[in-house]
Amino acid sequence: MTASFDTIVNLSKRRGFVFPSSEIYGGLRSAYDYGPLGVNLLRNVKEQWWKSMVQQRSDVVGIDSAIIQAREVWRASGHEEVFTDPLVECSNCNSRQRQDKLDDPDLCPNCGQRGTFGEPKQFNLMFRTHMGPVETSENLVYLRPETAQGIFINYENIRRTNRMKLPFGIAQIGKSFRNEITPGQFVFRTREFEQMEMEFFCEPATSGEWFETWVELRHNWYLDLGMDPENLRIRPHDDDELSHYSAGTVDVEYRFPWGWDELEGIANRTDFDLRQHQEFSGQDLQYFDQETNERFFPHVIEPAAGATRTTFAFLIDAYHEEEVDGETRAVLKIDKRLAPYQLAVLPLSKKPELIEPATRLADELRSTYMLEFDVTQSIGRRYRRQDEIGTPYCVTFDFDSLDDDAVTVRDRDTMAQDRVSTSKLAAYLAEKLG
Ligand code: ATP
Repeated sequence: MTASFDTIVNLSKRRGFVFPSSEIYGGLRSAYDYGPLGVNLLRNVKEQWWKSMVQQRSDVVGIDSAIIQAREVWRASGHEEVFTDPLVECSNCNSRQRQDKLDDPDLCPNCGQRGTFGEPKQFNLMFRTHMGPVETSENLVYLRPETAQGIFINYENIRRTNRMKLPFGIAQIGKSFRNEITPGQFVFRTREFEQMEMEFFCEPATSGEWFETWVELRHNWYLDLGMDPENLRIRPHDDDELSHYSAGTVDVEYRFPWGWDELEGIANRTDFDLRQHQEFSGQDLQYFDQETNERFFPHVIEPAAGATRTTFAFLIDAYHEEEVDGETRAVLKIDKRLAPYQLAVLPLSKKPELIEPATRLADELRSTYMLEFDVTQSIGRRYRRQDEIGTPYCVTFDFDSLDDDAVTVRDRDTMAQDRVSTSKLAAYLAEKLG
């Protein structure tokens, strides 16, 4: 079952995952703020990506490049010229739409009128600003629309300083900005968002094989983090969809409440980017193979995912409603590595004789786990609150704890409860939570 769009948006706002940006001023469409739960979830998604792409690989290193780069970068990459979407304007309601995303090319989705669109205009998606106090064309710069170019322009720095040999990758997580014509579907398409991208440089003859490898690795990453295989698919691009640089692209798609849509693109970018940057910068960006004495441009496989979009997909995928004792239980069955809180510590009552030792216990556990300490309302309600935000384990400190020096640990998914002595709690949780 895919959770309904409204359910997830409501949950996000009600529980503090995501808030509309500038909400007290009426909200700024297409920008969002991540609240205490959302920021934990988003950080965990990024952390898992970094772990699998950088930490666990001997052939990939990381980078954090600037958001503002020289204008030449975007000339060389082709963005200044062709990073455009076709924009059509409705003569009836004046709304602007992205032509290639319309269900029916003649029907305005805003006012329902037919045949009201004019000729499409190519609209450049890059945000412009100026460096320094003078607003002249010489000072024009763009906010980066992707993190990839920050990698290409540092390719030679990284290869040299880290003595990298082909094949190797450079990974980056960071903010990107696109002045989308039709942002929407909550955090799915926003004008400010976060990407997780990796450029994998390899010998040209091996690029086909590496492409297949990365498609499989990336597909498995989502599955390993618990995404339902039924909601995930790999879709090769048709020839007319391919970007100007690509020799092959597949999208990893998720079954969103509105249908299949992209989570990640994996592209064979050939040697397009390094060639362009060599031409525009005048720097030698070819690779010298000491064994064969050959100079060549490596080819590049790029898995490019959206951190914010993927976080949204994990949230949708994890949301379940089930009947328990005649009541509906909402539970976020999210992987324990992604859950905003791994633990909740719940003293059964507000009496100081429970609050004090439970606080001490929580403070000890905090050094290892992200946890929430909650004393409000009945224990049943508190369990439901934690279920709804995906906390894998609740540790309840009750009056018996004072005598038997043990606590009750409740499992989110099975709702089973174990009585665990506090001296064994750390080992118990380490086994469960890793
Ligand atoms: P689309 O066709 O949806 O506009 P794209 O094909 O232009 O996306 P890429 O340039 O391949 O997207 O970017 C890689 C990833 O970055 C996407 O798969 C997506 O997860 C994320 N992404 C791109 N644009 C946005 C956006 N406006 N908001 C949130 N995430 C985005």
